[in-house]
Amino acid sequence: MITVRNLTKQYSAQTAVDNVSFDVKEGETLILLGTSGSGKTTTLKMLNRLIEPTSGTILINGVDARQRKLHELRREIGYVIQETGLFPHYTIADNIALIPRVLKWDEQRIRTRVRELIGMIRLPETYLAAYPSQLSGGQRQRVGIARALAAQPSILLMDEPLGALDPVTRSHIRREFRQLDELRQKTIVMVTHDVQEAFELGDRVGLMDGGQLQQIGTPQELLLRPANEFVRQFFADQWLPLQLHTFSLHDLSPYLPNENTHPGDALHLPAPTRLADALGHLSGSKSIVFEVNQQFVTVHLTTIWPALSQLLEKQSS
Ligand code: ADP
Ligand code: MG
Repeated sequence: MITVRNLTKQYSAQTAVDNVSFDVKEGETLILLGTSGSGKTTTLKMLNRLIEPTSGTILINGVDARQRKLHELRREIGYVIQETGLFPHYTIADNIALIPRVLKWDEQRIRTRVRELIGMIRLPETYLAAYPSQLSGGQRQRVGIARALAAQPSILLMDEPLGALDPVTRSHIRREFRQLDELRQKTIVMVTHDVQEAFELGDRVGLMDGGQLQQIGTPQELLLRPANEFVRQFFADQWLPLQLHTFSLHDLSPYLPNENTHPGDALHLPAPTRLADALGHLSGSKSIVFEVNQQFVTVHLTTIWPALSQLLEKQSS
């Protein structure tokens, strides 16, 4: 879907992006992670040719990006930035309809798509007539995403899309992202400096530093098999909480004690629930029950830790 080979961007004295190569598969979410100035935005903007590379190649759906007409490329690739860039004097409906109008969809089709999107981002239809200034930051950001998705681009690029929001809203919207089928199925490259965000949303994470891609892999690979000392250090102080994002209740089940009875007041959760989310629930209820191979498994606040420590030991051996 996206193939990047030996991509470099040189500004007179500064190498912003230094010989970067990676692939993004169809339907995958790749997160470019790194501190400020590490080259994330420059890499992202080269994918839709907002910035032209100094050298290297980019294939989008098998075709060299340089051979594509710019307007065609931008239509195929949705783009979301931190300050959504919504037009203040356009209604929410007109903002979302922007690209479909450029593409001259008929008005009926546009109306249907706009309704579908406003429902998807869980805003009431009455908001369609509102203006961006009447919405909260989190709501505006959802609209920005709806607008980028409107014409069904095959690829979505997002540059710190939640960067302007407070931590509670960020974490709320992240959870929504993970539940939206349209986002889950899309090929996405997203930039963030937030490690937690990268681990929550990324199928794979590419860690950048000094314009170079230090390592690319699944969150578990980065944590358990860091390619170098930089990668190890980068995650060191959040190692345990990050592990809780990479493992699910299902992963934990072999290490939990068998219990024949299951407490009636236990909370039922799906087995793929991540441990970080499960722990959040455990603070409110005494136990969680989930189902693996048609068997019910119970976990309590007291049994989760020994099981987790065995799981981690198994993984790192
Ligand atoms: P990030 O998004 O990871 O914060 P950027 O890709 O924006 O990083 O920038 C990477 C490096 O390239 C930084 O050191 C930045 O100062 C430099 N840079 C970015 N754009 C330009 C430019 N137009 N001219 C000169 N240097 C630039
Ligand atoms: Mg940036």
